[in-house]
This record gives sequence, structure tokens and C-alpha cells, in this order.
Amino acid sequence: MKYDVVIVGAGPAGSTAAKFLSEKGIKVLLLDKSKFPRDKPCGGGIPVRVLKKFKYIEEKDLIESYIYGGCVHSPSQKYKVKLQKNEPLSATVLRKKFDYGLVKFAIDAGTTFMDGKSAAGIRIFSDKAKISFTDKTSIESEIVIGADGVWSAVAKQSGLSQNCKNIGMSIVCEYPMGAKTLDYYFTEKRIAHIHLNIGGIKGYGWVFPKKKHVNLGICEIESINNKRNGKLNFKKVYESYVQILKENKVIPNSLKIGKIKGAALPIRPLEKTYADRVILCGDAAGLINPSTGAGIDYAMSSGKIAANVIADALGAGDTTEKYLSRYQTIWKKDFGRDIQTLLRVQKRWGEKNEEVIKLASRDKGISELAYGFITGNLRIYECRLKIVRLLLYLYFKNLFHRT
Ligand SMILES: Cc1cc2nc3c(=O)[nH]c(=O)nc-3n(C[C@H](O)[C@H](O)[C@H](O)COP(=O)(O)OP(=O)(O)OC[C@H]3O[C@@H](n4cnc5c(N)ncnc54)[C@H](O)[C@@H]3O)c2cc1C
Repeated sequence: MKYDVVIVGAGPAGSTAAKFLSEKGIKVLLLDKSKFPRDKPCGGGIPVRVLKKFKYIEEKDLIESYIYGGCVHSPSQKYKVKLQKNEPLSATVLRKKFDYGLVKFAIDAGTTFMDGKSAAGIRIFSDKAKISFTDKTSIESEIVIGADGVWSAVAKQSGLSQNCKNIGMSIVCEYPMGAKTLDYYFTEKRIAHIHLNIGGIKGYGWVFPKKKHVNLGICEIESINNKRNGKLNFKKVYESYVQILKENKVIPNSLKIGKIKGAALPIRPLEKTYADRVILCGDAAGLINPSTGAGIDYAMSSGKIAANVIADALGAGDTTEKYLSRYQTIWKKDFGRDIQTLLRVQKRWGEKNEEVIKLASRDKGISELAYGFITGNLRIYECRLKIVRLLLYLYFKNLFHRT
């Protein structure tokens, strides 16, 4: 059987693309190598701007709880910036439930879903794309979406990604916790914590309280090819992080480290995210916030953009890379400029987290900007000059205010 579009990978990117394509009457096959519902190592934090973009998420009970505030700690833990609002900053989800929920939206829209089906090869012909599977079967389509995550086979096989030099690392564990304990440690507002450069990592540790869980993780948003990384014992950093959290009474002393899971993160977009009859979405395209490693927003956004471009391409009978290149033009305009701005800020200020948090702890400007970005009220790219001006202003102000 031939489909209009085959989507490899049913994470947030794939299932969002599937839903929007099916709603347009396009014949879609969404497949995943895992049996669903499947879990995915993740913090499960979703900025509220995502809920504004994809209003249907809140229709079905996919959100666990909301976070109304956060505390960002400097690498030395001497300084901190607190933010608390009456409106939620972020929603939290359990990925097993959330991702399956998104798949169900796609199925409801008309998508055919196959799980336990692992793509092994992709070949592009003048009149079709052909995907072969590990079970020796194959399927044909007009277009293939590679939404198969950070180690994307579709990206490799279509020549869009050759090596994995832009991959970071993360480990995480989700701990069940009673609501009363959560209320005690994180208040009913479910205050989250971020500890920058904890244990010397080039990233951060996080504490995301949910409805009946607390999610504790660390991530390094730097290439695993970096030599220093080889020496870093990530598991040990995690263990000492949990110990620090206990000593600082952020979490209960009785919490026992559970079964931690490691997973890779892309750290910057691929140069090219399309080819003849192929589009890459989400982690497969390296679409991630380079400051935080968060990717659910860009995964869903890129899935929706891909659906619109593909519908037009099928309508025009043109599935060449020239036509599909408009996908990259659109995502770059939508959120790619935010990624570029963050990469530049990271390069200039990334090593200065202690300074930045020290400065920000004395001035509400930065935390208010962060609030605007998280809620989607402000666009990072549009505020780039404001960010630079604010950082410079605080830097010089600090020269006259040494403690
Ligand atoms: C530890 C950790 C914590 C994170 N925390 C957050 C967070 O709090 N907030 C946030 O926004 N982001 C977070 N992220 C990032 C986020 O998880 C990803 O950006 C997001 O899942 C990307 O969605 P996706 O659909 O592109 O890929 P994925 O969710 O990875 O889905 C890809 C799917 O493709 C399937 N697949 C892979 N290969 C094949 C194949 N050959 N054939 C068929 N199927 C295949 C996989 O089984 C998988 O289901 C975190 C990541 C990690 C590792």
C-alpha cells in the first residue's frame, strides 16, 4: 500500500505532523519502533507558550500539573534568582502518557498508526520514497518525515547528518512522591529549581515537581566529543547532586536514588533539514533550545510547519528539495532565529553563569525577560538587543557595586 506521507517516529514531532496532515485529508502512516505507550527519558517540563500554540493539549487530561515559579541557582549556589507568578510558567507532563495522548490525537484525525515497527533503510526514487523495516517489509510513500529522534536513521540515510558531533548528554529519574510531601517541599505552586553547572558540568541540574512525582536530572549541553566529557562520571555527578539537594532541604532526606536513565540530546540544528521527498522534524533535525536542551516546543512546532509545507507540496505535485526548502525557511523564521540568538548569548555569556546570576539577583529585568520568553509573551529574537543591553548594563553596574 502506498501512503502520501510516512512518518518515522511517534514522539511529539511525528504525532503533531501526523495530526495536522490527517486533518487536511492526507493519507498518513505514523510508525514507531517502540510499543506504545512508551516512556522517554525527559524532564517533562513544557513552557506555557506551547499550550497557547497547541490548545488541544489541555483538552485531554495530558498535563500533570503546573509550575508557578522557579529558582535558578548560580554554580557556587551563592546567588539565586527567584521568579514566582500567579499564572503558570510551565506545565509538567509524564512522557509516557503525554506522547501516547498526542498519538491518539493523530489517530482521531485519521492517521494509521503502527508501533513496534523499526525503520532500517530509506531509498528515494524519482516517483516515490521506499522505507524498509527490520522485519524485512517495506512501504512506499510520496514523502517521508524523519521524526525519529536524536539518532535519526532517516537523517543519516538521506545524507542530512553524517556524524554525531552535536550531541549532548543527560540523565534523569522520576520519583513518585505523595502530594503532601510535594506541597511541603515545593509548595502548592510547585516551585522548580535549576542548578547551573552543578558538579562542574557544562549544563545544569533540575528539580521539576509534578502532581505525584518529582523529576531530578542533569544535562550537559555540550558535544560528547569534547575530551573533558570522557572523564566526567555522569552517574557520580548525579549522585552528588541528589546529596546536595538533600543537604539544602530541597528534597526529603529519605529519597533513594532510583533507576536513572541516560539519553542523548541534540545541541544545535542540522545545516539542512530537507532533501528530495524528505523532511526532518524535532530532535532528528537538531531543533532544541541550546540553553536548556528543551525540545518539545520545537518538535511540535516543526511537525506542524512540516505538515503545512507537505500539504502544499502534494497539492502542487512537487516533492523536490527545492520545493521542500521552504520548510527550513519557515522554521528559521518562526523559532530558528531564537535558537541562533541563544547560541550567540551562550557563546558570549555561557562561561559566566556565576556573574550573570549574581547580576540578575540584583535586578528584576533579567527574570522578567525570562518570564516573557517562557510564557511566549516575548520573542527571544525580537528582544536580542534588549538582552545584550541588559547584560552590559548589569555588568557595568556591578563594577561599581562589588561585594
Ligand atoms: C533527559 C532529558 C530531559 C529532557 N527534558 C525536557 C524537558 O523537560 N522539556 C522539553 O521540552 N524537552 C526536554 N527534553 C528534550 C525532549 O525530550 C526532546 O526534544 C523531544 O522528545 C523531541 O521530540 P521528537 O518527537 O523529535 O523525538 P522523540 O521524542 O525522541 O521521539 C522519537 C521517536 O522515534 C522513534 N524511533 C527512533 N528510531 C526509529 C526507527 N528507526 N524506526 C521507528 N521509530 C524510531 C523512537 O522510538 C521515538 O519514539 C529532554 C531530553 C532528555 C534526553
